[in-house]
Amino acid sequence: MTREEFLAAVLSLAAFPLEGCARSTVVGPNENGVAGSNDFEVKKSEAEWRALLTPLAYTVLFQEGTETPGTSPLNDEYRAGTFLCAACFVPLFDARAKYDSGTGWPSFWDPIPSRLALKRDLTFGMERTEYHCARCGGHRGHVFDDGAEPTGKRYCNNGVALRFVAQGEAAPLLRN
Ligand SMILES: [Zn+2]
Repeated sequence: MTREEFLAAVLSLAAFPLEGCARSTVVGPNENGVAGSNDFEVKKSEAEWRALLTPLAYTVLFQEGTETPGTSPLNDEYRAGTFLCAACFVPLFDARAKYDSGTGWPSFWDPIPSRLALKRDLTFGMERTEYHCARCGGHRGHVFDDGAEPTGKRYCNNGVALRFVAQGEAAPLLRN
């Protein structure tokens, strides 16, 4: 890295919140060695996803965008129920694993097993762990080690990438 590149990296670092769901870009294969989004069970074109999602949801889910902290109504959602992927509707988190991390993004200490996939994210000169829906590839946020007990993990999740279904409510059918 040249001095100019280093300075550019430092400047870009300053423009984004470091401890939250900062913007990331696809940088390589995930931990399963799967590159890109071609190997997911649910495959849709950009036009197909855009027809199903709001512009912000599309940006977060499929361009690894970040919603403004404190803007999601799901920050205050603590009823019993399940949080689904907002793209393909697969259940990702039980509401019992949700807690207030103080970041302004819905946060969870544990996902439902096997529903998420991880990817190393090396943007901003940091090594972080990005995570996404294992079924459709929809980006959620990053995982940190400063979370709540019992796992100590913080799955920081953009609210717009989630759909909440309260206990007793009918969940939408999975999208294929
Ligand atoms: Zn999904």
